[in-house]
Amino acid sequence: MLKRVLIANRGEIALRIIRACRELGVETVAVWSQADESALHAQLATRSLCIGPARAADSYLNQDAILSAALATGCDAIHPGYGFLAENPDFADRCVQAGLKYVGPSGDVIRKLGSKSAARTLAQKAGVPVVPGSDGPVKNARQAEALAEQVGYPVLLKASAGGGGRGMRQVDSAGELKARFKEAQAEAVACFGDGEMYLEKLVLNPRHIEFQIMADTQGHVVHLGERDCSIQRRRQKLVEESPSMALTPALREEMGRAAVTAAKAAGYVGAGTVEFVLAPDGAFYFIEMNTRIQVEHPVTELVTGIDLVKEQLRVAAGLPLSFTQEDVRVTGHAIECRINAEDPERDFLPCPGTTTFLHLPGGPGVRVDTALYTGYEVPPYYDSLAAKVLAHAPTRLEAIRRMRRALEELIVEGYPTNAPLAHLIMHDPEFVRGRYDTGFLEHNLDRLLELARTCDRLMEGET
Ligand code: ADP
Ligand code: ADP
Ligand code: MG
Repeated sequence: MLKRVLIANRGEIALRIIRACRELGVETVAVWSQADESALHAQLATRSLCIGPARAADSYLNQDAILSAALATGCDAIHPGYGFLAENPDFADRCVQAGLKYVGPSGDVIRKLGSKSAARTLAQKAGVPVVPGSDGPVKNARQAEALAEQVGYPVLLKASAGGGGRGMRQVDSAGELKARFKEAQAEAVACFGDGEMYLEKLVLNPRHIEFQIMADTQGHVVHLGERDCSIQRRRQKLVEESPSMALTPALREEMGRAAVTAAKAAGYVGAGTVEFVLAPDGAFYFIEMNTRIQVEHPVTELVTGIDLVKEQLRVAAGLPLSFTQEDVRVTGHAIECRINAEDPERDFLPCPGTTTFLHLPGGPGVRVDTALYTGYEVPPYYDSLAAKVLAHAPTRLEAIRRMRRALEELIVEGYPTNAPLAHLIMHDPEFVRGRYDTGFLEHNLDRLLELARTCDRLMEGET
């Protein structure tokens, strides 16, 4: 096994990795920015070091500082978590060049899949269905327009380097293509420093279905079933669950096989996620592969009982996976709600602040992954994910009821969160029936927020 792992991340995912390491007897080195001196990850690791100022570019994205810290503390591996350097192929290469193991696939594999347009071509060549669209990147708006005529509107313009729903624009007709192309490309340049664009037909009323993959250096590639992440706002996930109500056993098997095929075609190693959109008619299309541990990985951990982070560490150490495809059994149902420090009443404006009081839910079948504590000041420099609340139960309805009561126990004081909205989603009849697609939140948001306001008014009247 590994001896000492540097965790190039912060927040709940840094804690998640520290926990897995401790249980395996692996030492941890946490790195923190000047804004994170009092952050939990800096306290809970075996050792911790400051790597620079608050700005991510000066700390969590500072490759030189992170590599020096790993070498100076005698680490044998670096775990990148998600976000920050997690999908940076040059960083993965530099780790290996410095004699460190990188917990994730090789730089070459990350490079191949990191360009979403190239990944699409790779999947297509492997026989995995992709959304009708461009063969590789499009050069300019004019070429995009010609292609859009062929595949038919509406279409999606997407940045090859995109992520987190950015660099993407829907185009409903030829008249608006040029303007949307400019916008999407400018956003891609601003966010990712890369303006390469490609085009896909917009699949109407789809589900977002993704498969968790684990692969080792011995050539085993397995999937751990799906997650349905269709509850999204601006193409960012809010609620995830497994299994998906939209899959039959036959479709699950077919999609799982396609996910494994895509991973094998890329020579994949480690934990990864193959994302698909699933049309109402049952047709599914590859959209991208994320080459890292995913925010929503605990959903899969709850239903399979497999610790994905420990498996990542095993694979990085050169050990085979501890299980085979036949060993993967899905038990019960799991749901995750992402709790963000943001104000739904102000267009989900991030609202960092001091956590004046915190009470976390517990009891049977509840898991909370968070780096919050009472008194903790959420810094404004990083993303607004504050906690992940998960419920696991024998059936979906029991998991929903469990999630409702978990969210009722949760108290976060000091700044607004989207927890009340998550609670209302758990009561929405269409959600409860499992009848929803990626448009659910957009269509229901105003109604749900009005409901939240009514609840607030009634409660104020009571007191
Ligand atoms: P998921 O939630 O499926 O794991 P997200 O796209 O929401 O994936 O991203 C997870 C984390 O990674 C978020 O913190 C997000 O801000 C960050 N992230 C996603 N894509 C990028 C990127 N290209 N560059 C930097 N950070 C990213
Ligand atoms: P990112 O890299 O930002 O995660 P994705 O390509 O995974 O981008 O797309 C983000 C979301 O956009 C998906 O989860 C899905 O809801 C939606 N989406 C992506 N491609 C399509 C498509 N061709 N048709 C319909 N919806 C799509
Ligand atoms: Mg995606």
